[in-house]
Amino acid sequence: MLDTHAHLDFAEFDSDREQVVQRMRQAGIDNLIIPGVSPLYWAKQLAIAEQYQCYFALGIHPWFCPEDVDKAISELTFHISQLRECPRFVAIGECGLDKLYADNWSKQLAFFDAQLTLAHELNLPVIVHAVKAHQEVLSHLKRHKLPKGGVIHAFSGSPDIALEYTKLGFKLGIGGLVMNPNAKKLLKTVSELPLESFLLETDSPAMTPLNVTEKRNQPANAVLFIDKIATLQKKSSVLISEHLVSNAMQLFDL
Ligand SMILES: [Zn+2]
Repeated sequence: MLDTHAHLDFAEFDSDREQVVQRMRQAGIDNLIIPGVSPLYWAKQLAIAEQYQCYFALGIHPWFCPEDVDKAISELTFHISQLRECPRFVAIGECGLDKLYADNWSKQLAFFDAQLTLAHELNLPVIVHAVKAHQEVLSHLKRHKLPKGGVIHAFSGSPDIALEYTKLGFKLGIGGLVMNPNAKKLLKTVSELPLESFLLETDSPAMTPLNVTEKRNQPANAVLFIDKIATLQKKSSVLISEHLVSNAMQLFDL
């Protein structure tokens, strides 16, 4: 199994990262993808990905947009050119749009647009953060028509929105929210869409599932979601695990 979205490089894991990785492996999760968030964080992220031999993406998150768009995008382009041969480098991201964090909206638009252009040029998938901005994200994705598609991470929307994304070659990242019985739209989406539409993710250290007591989320928790997805899809957990792994391998070319 694979946790396709975990910020293992964040400070929340500084004191016990080794044990967190061990716990993940004991739980049956073999590896994870660390998404990039900002030029300031890339060096630490890359060092941790190297140390634990994790997959990783590189990008600029809407919460962490630097002042100078051109400078940050040329840094991103340079780093990616250095990493193209690394088999653990899998995508551009995490990039996207977040209306709950709207202070830097025009910067968010510029960074999202530039990263989609780069993903198109370099033929890479993208990891997208989309919060209260599905219409804007969809119109960007329709304009850029990415050959490799990507994933809408931490998806929580309705089957209608989900289908618009899957038509564009995107998958939906399913995480801790699936354990919340009040997440009605998401539960409907997970029940109704074909299994090829989903990826497994935790978004650690964020998005701790309701049934977990530790405040911090961690990659080992990804196994908790498989039985729930199996129940919603009316299929066996083994089948769900196999499909989720092969979806991730296909999207990120692992
Ligand atoms: Zn994230």
